[in-house]
Amino acid sequence: MTTKLATMTKRQSIGDRPLIIGGGLAGLMTALSMAPEPVALLSKAALGVETSSALAQGGIAAAVGPDDSPDLHIADTLAAGDGFCDPIAVDRIIRSGPAAIEALARYGVNFDRDAQGRLKLGLEAAHSRKRIVHAGGDASGREIVRALVEKVRATPSIMLIEGLAAKRIIVEDGAVAGVLANGPDGPVLFPTSRVVIATGGVGGLYQHGTNPAGSFGQGLAIAARAGAKLADLEFVQFHPTALDSTGFPLKLISEAVRGEGAVLIDETGRRFMANVPGAELAPRDVVARAIWHHQQDGHHVYLDSRHVEGLDFAARFPAITALCAGAGVDPTREPIPVRPAVHYHMGGIKVDLDGKSSLEGLWACGEAACTGLHGANRLASNSLLEAAVCGTFVAESLKRTPARRVDLRAADVAVPVRSDPSLVRPIMSRAAGVLRERASLEAAAAALYPLVMDNGAASDAALIGLMIVTAALRREESRGAHARSDFPRHDDTRLFARDITLAECLAASRALARDLVA
Ligand SMILES: Cc1cc2nc3c(=O)[nH]c(=O)nc-3n(C[C@H](O)[C@H](O)[C@H](O)COP(=O)(O)OP(=O)(O)OC[C@H]3O[C@@H](n4cnc5c(N)ncnc54)[C@H](O)[C@@H]3O)c2cc1C
Repeated sequence: MTTKLATMTKRQSIGDRPLIIGGGLAGLMTALSMAPEPVALLSKAALGVETSSALAQGGIAAAVGPDDSPDLHIADTLAAGDGFCDPIAVDRIIRSGPAAIEALARYGVNFDRDAQGRLKLGLEAAHSRKRIVHAGGDASGREIVRALVEKVRATPSIMLIEGLAAKRIIVEDGAVAGVLANGPDGPVLFPTSRVVIATGGVGGLYQHGTNPAGSFGQGLAIAARAGAKLADLEFVQFHPTALDSTGFPLKLISEAVRGEGAVLIDETGRRFMANVPGAELAPRDVVARAIWHHQQDGHHVYLDSRHVEGLDFAARFPAITALCAGAGVDPTREPIPVRPAVHYHMGGIKVDLDGKSSLEGLWACGEAACTGLHGANRLASNSLLEAAVCGTFVAESLKRTPARRVDLRAADVAVPVRSDPSLVRPIMSRAAGVLRERASLEAAAAALYPLVMDNGAASDAALIGLMIVTAALRREESRGAHARSDFPRHDDTRLFARDITLAECLAASRALARDLVA
């Protein structure tokens, strides 16, 4: 069933406020950094609920340790990004890390500290120093979101609109003029000339993911339909060690467990990554591919920390201990069964350093945005950092951009009432997983295209799936998290496009359909 936006659609005035879409770290931070200037914050669930932010375990990377420096953190970020980071974005975001930690602490986040009050720091894969600031042991996201939600609710300049899902951006005269959202009482139109998309990741597009099931890239679909450029969409990061169990999302066994010395073994007890450079602490894509290949060869894979001297697992990892207990696993007595799962999207809405997209009046931050910080592969714990830092950058930019008067003539837009990615998940998992190749990507594009065009419940998810698949088809090389079995190496001799619009994607799909028929 679709709903038509017409003159009868209920309108809700938010005055001159910008509308921030998303109640995770990026949206909360943007709203708080705007204060005391008025903003409206729209979230489809209650604030902080159904966010990847609240699920984060390891913590936030920031160069705050005595043996660390922003230069070292920058070098590690650039190395993980496999030649595709934007060095200017990396420099600015990483150097803002320590100030972001201070800001979060001012907002009430209780980070873990030693007896002298110094921040305790963890180590994660591909970081050359201990620099992961954490809270509640491995419950960092929960504590950050708790404190920020409390602060947002107590900030009078922030108008809260909870329980409505944004469906479309209305564009008039080439610029943002409003947002159409759906709630329990039907569609609501919010006239505004300034919109921030902070809707998180795309894990919900796949069968095995660690994001909340509702994170299937709806913000990206909205931006693409409004004409904004997206970038780096093919770079989807698979976390190597999700708890191998049923249900969605899969629970995460944080990299911090490997940071403490846990190793990967198979059912024979063999440490199959021992000879890989970096071993278990190699970059995520390397570890995820090693596990995936081993599983394809018929093995089961486990994470084993039983040998780590002095590790009080339950005290260091209380949340992981609890989620393992839920699956009947006691990590102090047995290894934890693990498998790779979709975890993080490096690509997103293409933005500049102010968080501005290519569409006038549209900003993006957090996982929904592509700033260039992560390049082809995210360094662990740089995403909470990016969400916190870029939320403040977007707020500064919004403050410098006065509201425009919008007429919002009633456009004729058909929008599905329900969004359901379930038809898309098996297609994406088959074709756009840890390892890709032309034939299955083409088959996926052919299956997704009609789902996009029929404007049903799967259409927004299918649209982002199709854009990811199109970007993966175009990139005929392997780089970072994008691995093609038919093009297994970097190809620095060819320039593959990094930006993509919806119009380009649909044109490519039509051409592909013609080729396949011919
Ligand atoms: C299990 C797990 C562990 C992680 N651990 C770490 C870690 O230790 N360190 C680290 O740096 N990163 C970690 N990450 C990644 C990090 O948590 C995310 O990248 C980051 O929290 C994203 O924040 P965000 O605000 O952009 O999105 P989210 O926190 O996902 O918030 C998105 C918000 O948008 C709302 N929304 C979505 N669509 C709509 C719509 N159409 N209309 C209205 N609202 C909408 C959602 O309801 C939600 O409120 C982890 C991720 C997962 C899943």
